[in-house]
Amino acid sequence: MIIVAHTPAEVREIVDAWKVQNLSIGLVPTMGFLHEGHASLIKKAREENDRVIVSDFVNPIQFGPSEDFEAYPRDFEADKALCEELGADMIFNPEAPDMYAENFSTYVNVDEITDVLCGAKRPGHFKGVCTVVSKLFNISGADRAYFGQKDAQQLAVIRRMVRDLNFPIEIVGCPIIREDDGLAKSSRNTYLNEAERKAALVLNRSLQKGMELILDDGIDDAKTVKDAIRMEIEQEGLAMIDYIEIVEWDSLANVNKIDGPVLCAIAVYIGKTRLIDNFIVGEV
Ligand code: AMP
Repeated sequence: MIIVAHTPAEVREIVDAWKVQNLSIGLVPTMGFLHEGHASLIKKAREENDRVIVSDFVNPIQFGPSEDFEAYPRDFEADKALCEELGADMIFNPEAPDMYAENFSTYVNVDEITDVLCGAKRPGHFKGVCTVVSKLFNISGADRAYFGQKDAQQLAVIRRMVRDLNFPIEIVGCPIIREDDGLAKSSRNTYLNEAERKAALVLNRSLQKGMELILDDGIDDAKTVKDAIRMEIEQEGLAMIDYIEIVEWDSLANVNKIDGPVLCAIAVYIGKTRLIDNFIVGEV
């Protein structure tokens, strides 16, 4: 039976016992409503660690005031069943007051690489992410934590934070898991109606075009690649571009000429739903 923990103290008590036995711990931080993208992280954590903790928490402080915190899909029983099936040892499902005391006042802020891409569009988002992830690292005492390339900027920001603050943890990046038709799996895909679901394919389709230009045609001018992606997306009536960027991986510094590892990341509104997708040329 999977252990269900609701408070940091409950997690800590069990983790302390695991540590005494010298067991390695893998952490998979999620906001729940788990799908095969999350499952891939849990499977990898299962392969590489003696114990696996999945955190399942819709973190209020990483949502902006006009964002979808209330509407964000939740299904704890299904999440628990999937975690159990995948062999996770513990699912940590706190309520906001378990994580944030009334006079909570300590935040983790990573400068500069949070000013671009999603960070530029979602002020305060990465401050909320870095704060909750720091807490989860401390609560879980994990040796390794697993993050998806789906949220590539998040992966880069967490790696930077871990390096800068000497967190004793290894960050493992995992590839993007897609639906059969190419749409990157996301809990937010549930917001899409039938027409929007079809329109959402433009994200992966446009990125494929961009990737072909770089890898097959040897185009090294970032603007040319971004323009091609933009043209493809603009042909989809339900799509509205939030950003198309090509940056150095994983410093996220601006790139004009593509001559090393790069992240090509896009954010596109399909109707009211904001979706992100990306590809990386080079090692994740
Ligand atoms: P979330 O629940 O959306 O916060 O995501 C939790 C973790 O799962 C993050 O590290 C995500 O990058 C990862 N993840 C979400 N969707 C996917 C996907 N389609 N493929 C791989 N990883 C994913």
